[in-house]
Amino acid sequence: GGTVEFRDVRFAYDPARPILRGVSFTVPAGKTVAIVGPSGAGKSTLSRLLFRFYEPQAGRILIDNQDIAAVTQASLRAAIGMVPQDTVLFNDTIGYNIRYGCWDATDAQVREAASLAQIDRFVSGLPEGYDTPVGERGLKLSGGEKQRVAIARTILKGPPILVLDEATSALDSFTEREIQDALDTISQNRTTLVIAHRLSTVVNADAILVLDKGVIVERGTHGELLEAG
Ligand code: ADP
Ligand code: ADP
Repeated sequence: GGTVEFRDVRFAYDPARPILRGVSFTVPAGKTVAIVGPSGAGKSTLSRLLFRFYEPQAGRILIDNQDIAAVTQASLRAAIGMVPQDTVLFNDTIGYNIRYGCWDATDAQVREAASLAQIDRFVSGLPEGYDTPVGERGLKLSGGEKQRVAIARTILKGPPILVLDEATSALDSFTEREIQDALDTISQNRTTLVIAHRLSTVVNADAILVLDKGVIVERGTHGELLEAG
């Protein structure tokens, strides 16, 4: 499973100012789609609609051909993992932060999630490993390290679909690369990825959708969009 489909989705916070004016696309299970476009285009809104933070005023959002309006909150949360833009870690250990919300996970499962999120080598290099305290009184992690801990936490729960909202985060190019590498590993693991991103540099997506003024103005692979120039 893990197919995501938007069918003519329309949404406005304020009826006088439509944000999405009929957005349609399909992400086949296990594929990666990047939603790019200028700031304010509605990329974050789109990812929040998928997580049912808001209801579309028209159109349908389907997961594995099921309208998300008709599924329970619990099954929606099981189907979709949402990695927030700015992760605030708990003042506890790295292991606690990865395990959060998934307390029955084994150490091996934590290590596997960390490995997929490409944070395992960093953690293994620390004298206290997963028992290293982070946060206010602990080790200060970089933005990319925090983000990858958040990604590990989300994939530990095993959702077939992962949504990353990077729409407004200002990440430096090194951090961007770290996260891109993690996403590449995850996408090879049959997870459907929906990435809302500022830039069109998400080269490894199977499809890139360019959102502007509430509609998808272009779609294709990175190479196709470059040729279209
Ligand atoms: P795999 O990634 O498993 O090797 P492919 O790369 O052959 O499979 O992808 C199969 C097709 O699905 C490709 O033509 C790809 O462009 C297409 N595809 C991926 N995501 C989307 C999408 N969001 N919308 C339409 N087609 C997509
Ligand atoms: P992007 O992620 O592409 O930068 P957003 O989805 O964050 O775009 O925002 C699209 C538009 O909706 C912007 O004009 C933004 O100001 C507006 N907007 C976002 N969130 C809200 C909200 N909770 N209430 C009202 N307007 C909002």
